[in-house]
Amino acid sequence: MSNSIIINRVKHPSILADHRVDPVTKKLLKVGDEVCVCAVCKTVYLKDVWKNTMKGKCCKQTKTLLCIPNTEYGVKETPPVIEKSYKTHFLFFLLATFLFLGLIIYWYNLYNNEHIQKQNLYFDIKKLSEKNRDKNKEYGNKIDSLEKENNNLKNSKKSLDSVLNRLNNISKSTFCIGKNIHETNSDSYDQNYLMFLKTYVSLKIDNLYVKPNQNDYLIIELYNEFNVLIDSIEVYVKSNIGWNKIDVNFEIPNPGVYYLKRTGNVPLFYDKVSGNYDSCVDSNIKILGCSNSINEYYKREYYQYYYDIHYSLLTE
Ligand SMILES: [Zn+2]
Repeated sequence: MSNSIIINRVKHPSILADHRVDPVTKKLLKVGDEVCVCAVCKTVYLKDVWKNTMKGKCCKQTKTLLCIPNTEYGVKETPPVIEKSYKTHFLFFLLATFLFLGLIIYWYNLYNNEHIQKQNLYFDIKKLSEKNRDKNKEYGNKIDSLEKENNNLKNSKKSLDSVLNRLNNISKSTFCIGKNIHETNSDSYDQNYLMFLKTYVSLKIDNLYVKPNQNDYLIIELYNEFNVLIDSIEVYVKSNIGWNKIDVNFEIPNPGVYYLKRTGNVPLFYDKVSGNYDSCVDSNIKILGCSNSINEYYKREYYQYYYDIHYSLLTE
């Protein structure tokens, strides 16, 4: 018995598309036709034609195929659309699976990374807060010690201020008047001159300098303008030391005109006054002049004996 095949629209699309005809009857092969295929030359015959005419004749044999081969490729005709669809589906499924797997791996990594980052951040924050606490403690201690130091400095400043005040008061109440021992312009000695002064406030002559040209006793006296002796001092002066500092300590509480007179045999240094008595006046005292007569207060030709006269103000 020969194999026969019924032409199917789905299974045999190429036969239908080619408008294949039965080679004997020239009838167009269509869906539902029962056909036989020569096993050797693969020619497709209507079943009746094969059975009645071509069996044993075509290629001198009687065998037929179980299916219609694809004449172009010589392979079994299979529904290409369905096969293609399966392939596409399979490929799509594979792709989707890979994509899904990829996504899962990506998400997992993302989650993992995020988790690790969060954990690291948490540890960092913990460390930082610990550090911060330590720093705060340290700064607190520092601030405490700085405050202590500040207080100490404030106290030091207070005591220094009071010392400075006292020093200021001392320096304010101590003055110097008269010619300077370093600014002399001759080398003459005599012993008969008086120095006239005018005071405007209560003051005390603390000390002054004289330069003798021999060693001897010297007496310096202070008189008021009425020739009344106010105070005096006797000292031993030496020529070999040059300028002798004498602490006279003459107190002059009442403002007025006074003069200094020296007695004894020791000549003292004097020099010329070049035009003015600039160094001999301030707001407290004025050196009026030097002369050998109590009637000539303002004689200023020479400057006799008393240099760098230091005085201080008498306060009640
Ligand atoms: Zn044949």
